[in-house]
Amino acid sequence: MRMLGRLGVLWLVAASAVFGVPGAVRCGKLLDVRAGKLLENQTILFDDSGTITAVGANLALPAGVAPIDLSHSTCLPGLIDVHTHLTSDPSDTGYEGLGVSVPREAIKGAKNAAKTLHAGFTTVRNVGAGNFTDVAVRDGINAGDIPGPRMLVSGPPLGITGGHCDNNLLPYEFHYREAGVADGPWAARTKVREVVKYGADVIKVCASGGVLSKGDQPGTPQYTEEELKAIADEAHKLGRKVAAHAHGTQSIKDAIRAGIDSIEHSSLIDDEGIALAKEHGTYLVFDIYNDDYILAEGAKEGMLAESIEKEKKLGRLQRENFRKAFQAGAKMAFGTDAGVYPHGDNAKQFSKMVEWGMRPIDAIQAATINAADLIGWKEKVGALEAGHYADIVAVNGDPLADVKVLEAPVFVMKGGVVARNEAAR
Ligand SMILES: [Zn+2]
Repeated sequence: MRMLGRLGVLWLVAASAVFGVPGAVRCGKLLDVRAGKLLENQTILFDDSGTITAVGANLALPAGVAPIDLSHSTCLPGLIDVHTHLTSDPSDTGYEGLGVSVPREAIKGAKNAAKTLHAGFTTVRNVGAGNFTDVAVRDGINAGDIPGPRMLVSGPPLGITGGHCDNNLLPYEFHYREAGVADGPWAARTKVREVVKYGADVIKVCASGGVLSKGDQPGTPQYTEEELKAIADEAHKLGRKVAAHAHGTQSIKDAIRAGIDSIEHSSLIDDEGIALAKEHGTYLVFDIYNDDYILAEGAKEGMLAESIEKEKKLGRLQRENFRKAFQAGAKMAFGTDAGVYPHGDNAKQFSKMVEWGMRPIDAIQAATINAADLIGWKEKVGALEAGHYADIVAVNGDPLADVKVLEAPVFVMKGGVVARNEAAR
């Protein structure tokens, strides 16, 4: 039975590759995200593997292809969120989360993957999940078992004993320890090898303290620069990039100097940190929407009182530092920490980014070409160009005039397959 089941899955994967159909989408307007310009009456052609073959006006359609009509809408590339936690919900951050089993967590992941795709996010980088539930969700999506975005996943995040990525909710007698805990450079290297062994595409490390954890402070360092160097070196040797959770000023600099690829949260970055990020080409990921959600809903969701107090101190500083880093010309990618707030609301961050200094096109580039560059998939996602996946979102209205239109996509396609279509005809 087991063998037959496996063969069945292989056959399904092969079948979907063979029997995909070529197609076309006609867009009233199309946003060229590189140039920041709207083009009129564009047709996107894609082949049976779901890859774009041509984009332009007045393209001849291949025989038998009936185009999808989006002539009243504006098309843009499928969006990318580089910081999600698809396998958890806001209610899982406090004590209630202790009652969520590993299989239950994977089922939440399946639910949230569908919501995320439906919201126009066709690619996510999932940075931190219990055990390897994100690997299961990614593999289920890739096998065609469940709908969801393309996923790069980290598995359990690496962290120090008792730090932000360990779980300090239970007393000593339970001897609880998160799967990603590793202390010291060699133990951390071993942990990188282990998460890669079980399916990680990217390494997540908790460099500083955090908000939604018990008994630590966001501003204080957790891993040392020596440990961070070992993690970055081991990950890069194995062909993986590293995302470092770092709120604190010192940890941000330690992580950049260690050669880590992106700084997550970046809350207390100072001028020297911004200069270092520019010098090293490190991406900064500021999750500046969820502050509103944590302060308004966190207590009802069971978040710890200390977490809400930490957020009150951090939220505004993070937004001010986002503006500073953007104005200084640091590289930025769109990441939201979805899971801390409800999945599917990812696009609510765009208007925050505009409120705090970006033009709409800057925020859109952060979620397309910049995010694609950070995750190492710039040849395949983040732009509507020949050779890229046919990952297409359409909205009503002009996202360059009002970025909020991205909160309500009317059409979503991933790899030539329609996930949602409510476009006006
Ligand atoms: Zn996170």
